[in-house]
Amino acid sequence: MTHAELMADSAARYNTKREIALARADLERQIAFLDSIHTGCGSCQHYGGRGIGCKLAGGQEPPDDVLPVGCDSWLWDQIPF
Ligand code: SF4
Repeated sequence: MTHAELMADSAARYNTKREIALARADLERQIAFLDSIHTGCGSCQHYGGRGIGCKLAGGQEPPDDVLPVGCDSWLWDQIPF
């Protein structure tokens, strides 16, 4: 969305500083939540655990530098650890 589109979209919603502050606080909560999601292999639906490895990679164990951070195919299993 362009800046002009955001301005047009926001004009009807944010008429007071309080509305802006509330929207900002909500976004900050969402960002904190997104930052709290661990995106390593351990929380990926494709990971079967040590000895089973990554199902997407034919059962290979992810390399040590990938295991803690995951890859672009990471898919959240919704388990928060
Ligand atoms: S994050 Fe990538 S490498 Fe790790 S288990 Fe998921 S798909 Fe496999």
